[in-house]
Amino acid sequence: MKEAMLYSQLSDGSVECELCHRRCRIPKGSIGFCSVRKNVDGVLYSLVYGKAIAANVDPIEKKPLFHYYPGSAVMSIATIGCNFRCKFCDNWTISQSREIEGLDFPPEKVISSSLKYGCHGVSYTYTEPTIFFEYAYDTAKLAREKGLFNTFVTNGYMTPEAVRTISQYLNAATVDFKGSADPKFYRELMAVPDPEPIFETLKEMKRVGIFIEITNLLVTKYGDDLGGLRELASRIVEILGKDVPFHVLRFHPDYQLYEVPSTPISTLEKAAEIAMDVGLKYVYIGNVPGHRLEHTYCPSCKEILIERFSFDILRWNLKADNTCPKCGEKINVVGTLQKGGSKWLSLI
Ligand code: SF4
Repeated sequence: MKEAMLYSQLSDGSVECELCHRRCRIPKGSIGFCSVRKNVDGVLYSLVYGKAIAANVDPIEKKPLFHYYPGSAVMSIATIGCNFRCKFCDNWTISQSREIEGLDFPPEKVISSSLKYGCHGVSYTYTEPTIFFEYAYDTAKLAREKGLFNTFVTNGYMTPEAVRTISQYLNAATVDFKGSADPKFYRELMAVPDPEPIFETLKEMKRVGIFIEITNLLVTKYGDDLGGLRELASRIVEILGKDVPFHVLRFHPDYQLYEVPSTPISTLEKAAEIAMDVGLKYVYIGNVPGHRLEHTYCPSCKEILIERFSFDILRWNLKADNTCPKCGEKINVVGTLQKGGSKWLSLI
């Protein structure tokens, strides 16, 4: 156990966790909503510090981060637990587990393994990194000392205090929306009272200079309302601008929605058209390998700049200064094509 960061002690011996917007008030001897933070005699502890339930070397495109050091290999770690209860979660066996389990993989070992396998960065992913914040924070600090970058794949429900605290080490984040941020969808399918705080997270992340990509999962029948998607895309433009990469993700049957069919590709394509119509310059369709919207196109002349198949980069067609070779448009890509790391290794 490790004492938690970001909590307050209350006069009756309970504590208030300040990591995510649930702001759980936890009486002595009890655990928070995410099931991995416990009040022991008035002190809040993380129960999953250094206990990885997954550790893999992945291509950064899997996060997905398409515009941040493309081609990088990232050490990807998770613990059990989550502050959401998504009925369609594709990592539900670990996110919804109530058993504290995982192998000892302390921050020092995460970093030494990252270096051993030639990773360019570390990604805190699969489950929600906010709930294993202390583990992520210490690992991220060490990563930066060794010249590695850090990325979160997050539902965005963290508090502004949490964003500010991790910001000194966090380089980039994939912020995942579901069902186009429809409040009813969040309440009924995810047990989240209100998605509004996620937009505050985006503002805070932008303010502190974290590079952001957005995903939006369209769940067939429940969350594929394209009017809602237009509204979400408009808010993203308003908060983050037109240059932010925006991924429309296909749902696959899973967990409690295993009888719901995959999102039709025609729905995803209409969604992508709407996002582009709203002004977003880099719109992708995810979970459909081989689709033409896996590539990065020049927003100006439509030249293919980064050609992909699934998470692989097939062709790199940007100039060294990340401009389009045909028309000279400056493209919102951080870093250039990375090579040399191992990919697709499973350590745990
Ligand atoms: S991180 Fe966990 S304990 Fe803390 S507020 Fe969120 S759900 Fe509650």
